[in-house]
Amino acid sequence: MKWTENIYPIKELATGETLNLKTYTLCGEKPGPHIHIQASVHGAELQGNAVILQLMELLNTTKISGSITFIPLANPYATNNKHGTYTYGRYNPVTGHNWNRNYIDIIKETNFDFKKFLTKHQGQSWEKIKKAFKQELENLFEEYIQGLMNKKTLSENNKLNLLLQQLSAKSDGILDLHTGPVATRYLYAAEYEKEVAYFLKFKHILLIPNEFGGAMDEAAFMPWINLFKALEKAKIECPKDIESFTLEFGSEETFCMQSASKDVESIINYLKYKGVLAGTPDQIDCHYCLLKDYKTIYSPKGGLVDYHFAPGDRFFKGDNLASFYNLKNIDPLAPISSSRSTIVAQEDGIIINRCPSSSVHQGMELYQVMTKLHEHSGVQ
Ligand SMILES: [Zn+2]
Repeated sequence: MKWTENIYPIKELATGETLNLKTYTLCGEKPGPHIHIQASVHGAELQGNAVILQLMELLNTTKISGSITFIPLANPYATNNKHGTYTYGRYNPVTGHNWNRNYIDIIKETNFDFKKFLTKHQGQSWEKIKKAFKQELENLFEEYIQGLMNKKTLSENNKLNLLLQQLSAKSDGILDLHTGPVATRYLYAAEYEKEVAYFLKFKHILLIPNEFGGAMDEAAFMPWINLFKALEKAKIECPKDIESFTLEFGSEETFCMQSASKDVESIINYLKYKGVLAGTPDQIDCHYCLLKDYKTIYSPKGGLVDYHFAPGDRFFKGDNLASFYNLKNIDPLAPISSSRSTIVAQEDGIIINRCPSSSVHQGMELYQVMTKLHEHSGVQ
């Protein structure tokens, strides 16, 4: 087993210093899948790095098949973007863009010719087709990035995101580690990979369509969704054995090695499923819902908020989710009751995220909740 380290420059700062990405790749002695794991594309989302450290530590005493690349602190610029004691890491402060919406659908952008690709690889095994397609993807990124550089149109937004896409192009599993603002642990999984998602052992799963919306998980699975469709059209069967997930490990601005020793179990179990680690993977009971049933509850009023439910809590229609206090409408004889109003749940659900602040304007995001819940039993 051998570790390889690589450094990729991603941004030259105004003062002349260069920010770099560092990758750590572990190669096993036996062949197997390649897994790509990155953390902190949103700079305030730190827990994934604790998970990466726990996993790297474990892998020094465990044999693997295949290889794993780790990219901790995948967006150093965002990590360094402090405002007071907080990290302003979700958006590029220069352009205002969300760092996890800048990826591209490489197949669409380059108008990739699947007919030509399948004709070239007619009659070959899935393993061979898969290997050839990974190479095609890597070449597409190389040419695409070079094209932007030649035209001097490689912006600071796409430089980082395209590099991450290029580095993950040859992977069989892509895990993008994030957190919510104040959140429980939950997983984004595409509909086609639902059965595999259960092996990541998250209690809450959001099922997203097999479509592109600008995020890393979608950018990573879209080429394969297109290949699966092209194969289906050509009546060629293949296992859909490439996955890409966004793992949300709790709340931003927190880094806890003790929690990470538990968090890492979800990735270990997935690595067992992929055959990278030895052992039988298992599942746990979980709830999932479709993305369309993942709802945001916006603040109906401005004021100070007393949240009555925490991320991970189950609630039912009619529950009092939060109380608002408007301090401009106080009757001094009944100060609490006169300033207070409540927000009542319109349907059953589970709290996934809540606003980190108790001071809100009307229309701000208060809670993000899973509704129309489906249950999955982990007992096989
Ligand atoms: Zn994030």
